[in-house]
Amino acid sequence: MHSFDLIRDMGHEQVVLCNDSNVGLRAIIAIHNTHLGPALGGSRMWTYESEDAALVDALRLSKGMTYKAAVSGLNLGGGKTVIMGDPEKDKSEGLFRALGRFIEGLNGRYITAEDVGTCVDDMEYVFMETSNVVGVAESHGGSGDPSPFTAYGTFRGIEACVERRLPGRKLKDLTVAIQGMGHVGAHLAHRLAEAGATLCVTDINEERCREATDGLKKVTIVKPAEIFSVPCDVFSPCALGAVLNPKTAETLKCSIVAGAANNQLETMEMAEVLRKRNILYAPDYAINAGGLMNVFLELEFYSKERATRMVSRIYNTIHTICDIAEREGLSTARAADLMAERRLETVGRLKRSYLRQAPPRSRSRMPS
Ligand code: NAD
Repeated sequence: MHSFDLIRDMGHEQVVLCNDSNVGLRAIIAIHNTHLGPALGGSRMWTYESEDAALVDALRLSKGMTYKAAVSGLNLGGGKTVIMGDPEKDKSEGLFRALGRFIEGLNGRYITAEDVGTCVDDMEYVFMETSNVVGVAESHGGSGDPSPFTAYGTFRGIEACVERRLPGRKLKDLTVAIQGMGHVGAHLAHRLAEAGATLCVTDINEERCREATDGLKKVTIVKPAEIFSVPCDVFSPCALGAVLNPKTAETLKCSIVAGAANNQLETMEMAEVLRKRNILYAPDYAINAGGLMNVFLELEFYSKERATRMVSRIYNTIHTICDIAEREGLSTARAADLMAERRLETVGRLKRSYLRQAPPRSRSRMPS
């Protein structure tokens, strides 16, 4: 694989290979774009089939973070770390502290957080070596579990989608089908139930599904394979990626797809398929940015109230994306990309003019 060609084609600024044989650390830190601010993205630990597969994953995920931060109005860039190793067997204090020292060496250009295969406890070790880590425990001034905020943002995104696609209808008159009753899905189910929605839910873990919906009214539990064909108003993927593929896109019986799962579209063409079926798709990285917003505030001054207000604005972001899509005749997925690219260009351009002193630390668009 021609790594430099790949990095150039995907527009990355910097890729760092980290090795510490004593602790068995082999990691790649990919910094995609820092035009808006420091690159932020989690540290993923995974048993990659090859070094090339790890590099491709780091490049793909870090680029995704650039778009997510940009569309969400955050002054952050996109980055990601992938650690090659088995999260069940290869974790140690030494490994995460070594990673922390590599991150510290980047002098604030990259900030990490937990991700697939890592957890808050691992980040505590990273935190011993660098302050460029977010999502640490609340006892250390961190913001704790981001899932309730991701769920709240998804809820606000669903509200915006309903206004666009089903004007005049209220959640209490609608049915929402949720795939995945994990951290985000369960919180979302409770919010929707409070708003009076009828729910149809599923999870491959039946017990989790029952526990998550215990005490909720107007809930039906269905088998995992049935969730795509359930007649509903909103289908909310909150489990896996690539759930919107040629088969499922034709099966769906809904007006809106709006959920928290990452990378829902198997390919970008799926966005067009949904558009042609008149199904409004809320771009995943825009609607599920609540968790990122929550950790972002750790870099400024964290409070749950501020985080809630910021996350609430996902409603506005979804409306803006729909405006662009309608005005320019695009799918909402393409409109979200365009919105992110335009902000990167506009704000990136501002930084070309000379200022004698460093400007004050960029703040998010939300007033405090
Ligand atoms: P989670 O692991 O807690 O929950 C996922 C749930 O999906 C699990 O209960 C699992 O059993 C279930 N599941 C897996 N495959 C399934 C299938 N085929 N059918 C039905 N259920 C299935 O994860 P989470 O933190 O709730 O995140 C859910 C999704 O949202 C993921 O795609 C994640 O990447 C994305 N996301 C999460 C956050 C966050 O703050 N947690 C932020 C942004 C995006």
